[in-house]
Amino acid sequence: MPSPDQLPIFAELVAPASRRARPHLRLQPPLLADLTARQRRAVTHGDGPLLIVAGAGTGKTTVITRRIAWLIGEKLASPGEILALTFTDRAALEMTERVDELVPYGYTDTVISTFHAWGDRLLRDHALEAGLSDRSTVLSKAEQVIFLREHLFELPLDRYRPLGDPTRFLHALATLISRARDEDVTPADYGAFAAAQVAAAAASPDDPALGEAAGPHVELAACYTAYQALMRRNDRIDFGDQVGLALDLLREHPTILAAERARYRYILVDEFQDTNHVQFELVKLLTGSPRANLTVVGDDDQSIYRFRGAALSNILGFRDAYPAAASVVLTDNFRSRQPILDAAYRLIRHNDPDRLEAREGLDKRLVARAHARRGAAAAEMPIDLLAFDTGSDEADAAAERIAASVRSGRRAGDHAVLVRTNRDADPILRSLNMARVPWRFAGTAGLYRQPEVRLLVSFLRAVNDPEDSVSCYDLATSELFGLDPRDVTLALNAAARRRTSLEAALRAASAQPEEAPFGRRPLEVVARLLASLDQHRAMSVERTTGELLYHFISSSGWLGRLAAEARQSGDERLANMARFFEIVRRQSSLLRDDRLPFLVAQLDTLIEAGDDPSTADLATDDGDAVHVLTYHRAKGLEFPIVIMVGLVDDRFPTRSRGDLLPLPAELVREALPEGDHHLAEERRLFYVGMTRAREELVLSWARDYGGRTARRMSQFVLEALDLPPATPVESLRPSVAERLERHQRPARRPAVAPPPSLADRPLVLSYGQVSDYLECPAKYRFGHLIRIPTPVTHQLVYGRALHAAVQVFHRRQMAGRPMSLPELHAELDAAWESAGFLTRQHEEARRTAAREALERFWSAQQADPATPTAVELEFSVPLGRDRVRGRYDRVDTDPDGRVTITDYKSSDVRDPATAARRSRESLQLAIYGLAWEAQHGRPPDELSLHFLESGIEGRSPATPKRLARAAEQVASAAEGIRAGRFEAQPSPSRCGYCPFREICPDAIR
Ligand code: SF4
Repeated sequence: MPSPDQLPIFAELVAPASRRARPHLRLQPPLLADLTARQRRAVTHGDGPLLIVAGAGTGKTTVITRRIAWLIGEKLASPGEILALTFTDRAALEMTERVDELVPYGYTDTVISTFHAWGDRLLRDHALEAGLSDRSTVLSKAEQVIFLREHLFELPLDRYRPLGDPTRFLHALATLISRARDEDVTPADYGAFAAAQVAAAAASPDDPALGEAAGPHVELAACYTAYQALMRRNDRIDFGDQVGLALDLLREHPTILAAERARYRYILVDEFQDTNHVQFELVKLLTGSPRANLTVVGDDDQSIYRFRGAALSNILGFRDAYPAAASVVLTDNFRSRQPILDAAYRLIRHNDPDRLEAREGLDKRLVARAHARRGAAAAEMPIDLLAFDTGSDEADAAAERIAASVRSGRRAGDHAVLVRTNRDADPILRSLNMARVPWRFAGTAGLYRQPEVRLLVSFLRAVNDPEDSVSCYDLATSELFGLDPRDVTLALNAAARRRTSLEAALRAASAQPEEAPFGRRPLEVVARLLASLDQHRAMSVERTTGELLYHFISSSGWLGRLAAEARQSGDERLANMARFFEIVRRQSSLLRDDRLPFLVAQLDTLIEAGDDPSTADLATDDGDAVHVLTYHRAKGLEFPIVIMVGLVDDRFPTRSRGDLLPLPAELVREALPEGDHHLAEERRLFYVGMTRAREELVLSWARDYGGRTARRMSQFVLEALDLPPATPVESLRPSVAERLERHQRPARRPAVAPPPSLADRPLVLSYGQVSDYLECPAKYRFGHLIRIPTPVTHQLVYGRALHAAVQVFHRRQMAGRPMSLPELHAELDAAWESAGFLTRQHEEARRTAAREALERFWSAQQADPATPTAVELEFSVPLGRDRVRGRYDRVDTDPDGRVTITDYKSSDVRDPATAARRSRESLQLAIYGLAWEAQHGRPPDELSLHFLESGIEGRSPATPKRLARAAEQVASAAEGIRAGRFEAQPSPSRCGYCPFREICPDAIR
């Protein structure tokens, strides 16, 4: 947790890094020694385009990161001249860490980013030219739907806004617009297409079908145009815009394009099979030539994001854009046993001829290079095909099999069960509970359905609306209040008779206990429930929703209970809760007034719009538990034993469901391959699932999943195992006695074993983490391991807003567009949150103080307008066996090359002596000094704390002794964390300011 006066870190712009020579760059050996011949060829490819076809488990990330290191080591490019693009933050982080291990000094100049983050940075760097402000809000898909809904009657809609059900097409409209963005179809393009349709209809008046077809397109094109205009007017952009507008910017501004081209000598794209049309266009524009130094890495057989716009044609047609491209095919698989690879290969060949292998005449057959586990007989068949009568038999058998495997010495975490949809996980989870096997579920959706999150949503709704009986019922019967559903039903019946709400009925029962339909104990619970509703309703007038929610979970003791439970049964529930808090916070920031009624309405709309965020994303080695995952979540992971369940037609492959409003085929730029696209994509998904298995793969299915007709085994199983279509498979059926016996067992969720020791795993630590651990290891555990949400404090609000304004000031200064004082104040207002203050007067007093502080800052800057070299510059550098990460608020390099790193503080320090002492003693500054030294081979010349309230700066040198002491402190925190030592270190002063004191059993009050 940041200390109250520590200014928070914002994901913002990074100034162009300096291009100093790095005389001491030396790569960690051995860079090439452990690579196969083909991997080495890919890594050491010289200039010109290169396509690396990297099959599953062939060391794709190793190759791409070694290539970056090799380019740097061979001095073909400085780190800053390399751009590596990928898809997820997690992939970008992993790549960054791996490069970091290979290149000892200064990889930070290498831009390793997702497409969206890279586009976003470009747009914010050139906000003026892009016609945006540098505060544009990015809307998610669900928020895009909400936006459409808010502006529904400003859109030129008719047939797609039926007055009886005006929101019916909103989702489909948002999808259509996203698809158009992904395909680089502008509103003008769509308009021209619609006009051509109208003209064609006019030219053939005898063909009424043409006229009928043209009308909808005219309406949709007009809607797209209006949507775009509204988004710009409201300073909003969507996910597609982050890349699409960046592409437009580069097309329309040759100087910006020239600067970006000059900046990057080598461009690498990871997971190339997942790029959409716009992303590839962006890459082509940036590289500028068919002979450019572009390396793409991908596997067409693992392309599984067509529903997100991924264009398989990009990888299949790479050579059309880069005819001189060299290619390397990686087929040595370091993960799975050969029979698993052979079966997967048999399956995927059914996608021919729309595969690279068939198109380019390659051989993509994977060859097993992994060593079999000791004890696994070489001849033993690692694939099992199991058939069952019913889905519950199948789920029970999977659970029993895992339980037996655990009894024989395996870890629960060695097993993964893959399900096609989130819903398919339920029976498996129930059976695992019965078998008392701990599990973790990672779905691509389902956060709002998790009991702990549902309870929070019901609480908000029930407080907001006393008439909302459904939410009140949910709350009353939740684990927190625990009323017996039968008692609540009695109250509901009474409510129905009187035509009142459930809450009113409970109040009546509470007021006249003698007439209440239930006993004394339930009445006590009812009183507690009503008191809680009353208390929070009163609070909701003054407090933000986040504060309200936090008060509810902490004052009820629920947070404390979950925190204690997390020690035994894992952090999943708290992590889900933390994720929901993030959503509330994000939605609050989109609202003009984030009080309860508005926030609840926003949440309802979000859920109604189909927002279905994934559950908490815990690392696969967080605790020892079976991994139950959807296929999309399993991509990139591997497990010794994989069980694929529910393998029947109509479940896997699923039925194709096209878009309600598809983008007209004439506008789709992707050269669509022949054949059934949906079936081919499902087959690739199946292939991805099979290739997750290292040692054993179980394929299972059942005849009866509750429908009317018996199910057939999935055609993919037949294809993979090369079975004739009508293969009879004997089903396994437990005895009746065994079935009955199962129901006697408790269905309580078993405990997850604590995380395995972190052993030698390197850690990535920020100053905040080190400082929290050193202060109290238990505080570290609550804040950084379990990530218990904490309420927003007024100190935090004050610090954030000041920081945001100062940051924009410097950014504008660096772009040569200095800010006026009113503009600076406007930035403060925009970043201000009305949360955490004692009263309105308190808030006003703080805001006035902040304005005055900025006024002083602004005046000082006018007198001495020194432009920083960088603001908000990220770093992540190796330190011993671990790494430290963070951001420098500000870096200044004077004409003599003297470097000063400054951290802005919002705490009230008014005398130079205290400022100097705080600067000297600051561990944060010392860590920044260490990081700078690791990056540049020498420490900064000065470290400074700038106290914004008073304008006073405290400066101190980065002496070797001080940096060595800081390195020891980081190492000691890392060692404790690695060893899992989280004993509390209570003291009155520590616990007094600790945000976890309400739930910490060791707190001294
Ligand atoms: S309340 Fe005290 S003992 Fe508990 S985590 Fe916080 S500082 Fe540590």
